[in-house]
Amino acid sequence: MITGYQKQEHTGSYYAATANEITDYPVLEGAHSVDVCIVGAGFTGVATALTLAERGYSVALVEANRVGWGASGRNGGQIINGMSGLKKLRARYGESIADTVWSLRWRGNDIIHDRVEQYDIRCDLKNGYAEVAPKPRQVGYFEETARELERLDFPYRYEVWDREKTRAMLGTDAFHGGFICYRDGHLHPLNLCIGEARAAVNLGARIFEQSPVTAIEHGARPRVRTADGHVEADAVVLAGNAYSRLEPKHLSNLVFPAGSYIIGTEPLPDAVVNEINPLDIAVCDVNAVVDYYRLSADKRLLYGGACNYSGRDPASIKSYILPRMLKVYPQLKDVRIDYEWGGKIGIVLNRVPAVGRIGKNVYYCQGYSGHGVCATHVMGEIMADAVGGTLERFDLFAGLKPIRIPGTQWLGNQIIALGMMYYRIKDLL
Ligand SMILES: Cc1cc2nc3c(=O)[nH]c(=O)nc-3n(C[C@H](O)[C@H](O)[C@H](O)COP(=O)(O)OP(=O)(O)OC[C@H]3O[C@@H](n4cnc5c(N)ncnc54)[C@H](O)[C@@H]3O)c2cc1C
Repeated sequence: MITGYQKQEHTGSYYAATANEITDYPVLEGAHSVDVCIVGAGFTGVATALTLAERGYSVALVEANRVGWGASGRNGGQIINGMSGLKKLRARYGESIADTVWSLRWRGNDIIHDRVEQYDIRCDLKNGYAEVAPKPRQVGYFEETARELERLDFPYRYEVWDREKTRAMLGTDAFHGGFICYRDGHLHPLNLCIGEARAAVNLGARIFEQSPVTAIEHGARPRVRTADGHVEADAVVLAGNAYSRLEPKHLSNLVFPAGSYIIGTEPLPDAVVNEINPLDIAVCDVNAVVDYYRLSADKRLLYGGACNYSGRDPASIKSYILPRMLKVYPQLKDVRIDYEWGGKIGIVLNRVPAVGRIGKNVYYCQGYSGHGVCATHVMGEIMADAVGGTLERFDLFAGLKPIRIPGTQWLGNQIIALGMMYYRIKDLL
């Protein structure tokens, strides 16, 4: 039994301040019975719930805090195709899964666009995402990516930018080139999450908020327990990602929390917007620890970055992130910062999302290594397939042996930083 949960409201993010709806689903009380119970109402949980509800399952979604309270309602809002670890899948299973990997890469973009349209979700969805190179040696990767997309007949627009074009499009000298894909883009992640949750409810799903799950009781119909009630189901899906402490025997030492942080400026004047991002695209650098930014619908610069394994947030997020922003945009030195917040990313050492099953009927899916807006939507579909008995894509992930670092619960997160460095160096070699 997990104890010591502090129920919380949304963090002080720009997203919480501009949410379309303040959700207020009931607390879980008494006994409930459904086909599938999902723990955690971030994108993974909500996408799984919505897919299952669309397929006619009865669903309960149990959230410790609020819908989108975790990383899903706090992130950079960057829609980036694919998911981390796809290269590892390809290396493990070979050429025969090339088509599956290609469709996994773009499926998240399709699901998000389809749902925004089908359920009329107002979440400021925009097309255009640029990867940019802070170092000259990084630009070769952009040409390679363009060649790959050309070879595979990629149907959407993309461009490679040289230094001049990057400077003209982003109003900064900080980058040596860029690659822009117009199928990727950006959005207001909390409003997407809330909108998808509402769509699931309209299809009959039940959501419980302020209801931390304290234990899973295994059996033919496992029980999901909270302080005041329980849900019994044919199958359970654990979707608590970096915030979850459930099932420690199976899941500890598998996904590690790392902090990432964002600041939001005051709305910028049109002249500044036209100088720094006239195309209104999302931007992310290609360093190992990324910086990322975009404009909000009301033209604030939302600038994020850094990765912190200490388990503690910095004393001032603004002081931590602002120098990084000013390195790219020194011209914004007098701009007011209205928002600062952070959230937890779930890092997996081999970078492949940790997907699997405990016993016959408790599924889990977590650990997107900071690249989860699209990936969670694909995983929602894969988890719904698995619950329904279609295991083809689930087994690709579940079949990869995860890398664990035993003892991290005692040694602390610094050991993870060392582990990450080891795998990064191995990748580079
Ligand atoms: C600051 C930041 C910036 C990021 N930027 C980007 C980006 O621009 N693009 C991108 O693709 N990815 C980005 N990511 C990563 C992305 O946000 C995540 O990969 C994704 O949101 C994970 O979704 P999730 O549903 O698995 O987890 P979460 O959104 O973290 O949701 C987990 C939920 O489970 C709940 N929960 C946990 N334990 C329990 C329990 N016992 N009982 C009930 N509920 C429980 C939590 O309260 C939480 O609401 C970013 C992440 C952060 C933190």
